[in-house]
Amino acid sequence: MTRFIFITGGVVSSLGKGLCSASLGALLQARGYRVRLRKLDPYLNVDPGTMSPYQHGEVYVTDDGAETDLDLGHYERFTGVSSRGSDSVTTGRIYSNVIAKERRGDYLGGTVQVIPHVTDAIKEFIQADITDEDFVLCEIGGTVGDIESLPFLEAIRQLGNELGAERSLFMHLTLVPFISAAGELKTKPTQHSVKELLGLGIQPDILMCRIDRPLPSSDRRKIALFCNVREEAVIPAMDVDTIYRVPIAYHDEGLDTQVCKHFKLPTEQEPVLQRWSDIVENVCRPEGEVTIAVVGKYVQLKDAYKSLSEALEHGGIANRVKVKLDWIDSEIFEREDVVSHLEHVDGILVPGGFGERGAQGKILAAKFARERKVPYFGICFGMQMAVIEAARNIAGIEKASSTEFGPTPDAVVGLMTEWVKGNEVQKRTSETDKGGTMRLGAYPCALKPGSRVAEIYASPSITERHRHRYEVNINYRSQLEKTGLVFSGMSPDGVLPEIVEYPDHPWFVGVQFHPELKSKPFEPHPLFTSFIQAAVTQSRLV
Ligand code: GLN
Repeated sequence: MTRFIFITGGVVSSLGKGLCSASLGALLQARGYRVRLRKLDPYLNVDPGTMSPYQHGEVYVTDDGAETDLDLGHYERFTGVSSRGSDSVTTGRIYSNVIAKERRGDYLGGTVQVIPHVTDAIKEFIQADITDEDFVLCEIGGTVGDIESLPFLEAIRQLGNELGAERSLFMHLTLVPFISAAGELKTKPTQHSVKELLGLGIQPDILMCRIDRPLPSSDRRKIALFCNVREEAVIPAMDVDTIYRVPIAYHDEGLDTQVCKHFKLPTEQEPVLQRWSDIVENVCRPEGEVTIAVVGKYVQLKDAYKSLSEALEHGGIANRVKVKLDWIDSEIFEREDVVSHLEHVDGILVPGGFGERGAQGKILAAKFARERKVPYFGICFGMQMAVIEAARNIAGIEKASSTEFGPTPDAVVGLMTEWVKGNEVQKRTSETDKGGTMRLGAYPCALKPGSRVAEIYASPSITERHRHRYEVNINYRSQLEKTGLVFSGMSPDGVLPEIVEYPDHPWFVGVQFHPELKSKPFEPHPLFTSFIQAAVTQSRLV
């Protein structure tokens, strides 16, 4: 029997609903249950794929090629359960499906309305593609009180009523702020938020109260009384030093016990949390430190590189070191000398990116890393820029560029359709829609025997997730390999370069895919583990 847990948020945004959902998922898993986590986002974009990272943070890509909310990354990192396209939906997608049905004549004769047609579509989504899961956790994006989340809240209200309390639970995350002028914690915002929810017909069963200090029992009682929630179900969610402590912290406050009690499930046996205490121990007691420069474009907004910074931390966990990140806006290299910014770092990472702005700075970072023998990790755009750097500065292809930046006589990076004639597989052209038209999701890759990556992965073939429109042009392979750059990972048909590396460099790897999407704290990605290991070696040199 699948039970549904609906997670809403109130008072303010950015309370960490995604982490809260992911942590509850991890706790239920630690009690031996199978879980799946889902996100419902109230905006009108069909998916976040076309949104700037400044607007929405990172776009998280699933194996099946869906472009989703970054919270799905938290879900995967905390539970290890691979997310699917069916785990993420937006108002935009719901409406476009309903409208497509209307156009097809599926509702012939009927007036199509938010209730029941839109709410039915939401309920269908929540219950679709479930097999043997014990729990499905559904997080509703936005904050209670937003106009745009109303259809979602109405849909979960209906579903809660249909499933009954034995199969559904409402959890609400709020803020209990400390007002320094008064020297007091305030419960009123929580009361108001629950009142808002009650006005929509939803009585929360569990309240998670974000708070920066211990919640006194008098305040806990007060919240319980005014919000009509049992006192033990008012759970303080205190700030912690590392996000990987959250499952343990929530367990200590009784979250999973309360959830189990609600569903009348046994609570005597403690969940197995060893995995989490090991990670926390590792994060909090590092044996050293390395500094990695992340040379990117969206460096002001850390959420734009969420999975990346997590994966780097995982690499640190694997090597028992703290990974300090030096976020550098690549545009700065157009005005200032690269050396002063990069000479002190132990590794350089150029992450994924789009557009010409800042590209020259990334090429300079790759050149610095290659020449100075500093560990370099190029991810997607970072690989493409490293290849252009080799083409221009070693192979002597002066005009080498990417067609992403405009027409070029030497499209070392380009749309595949521009350099493969009569190609049937690839349908992407510069005219096609932008939304959902990149090479998306998991693709296999064959590794060159004896290469560094074959050794790192300890396997001749791998699959990794992609999100890009342009490819390194295979027609330049021999020219590029003469520079010492080895094409060590290729698509199984041998057409698409997936990995490049310099064997005579301490650690220089460029990958066309996004390995950061699959890294987990309890299973650090081998490339990140190896990169950080190289940075540790480098740190001993400088
Ligand atoms: N802009 C590049 C492309 O579309 C790289 C994308 C990325 O780094 N994710 O191919």
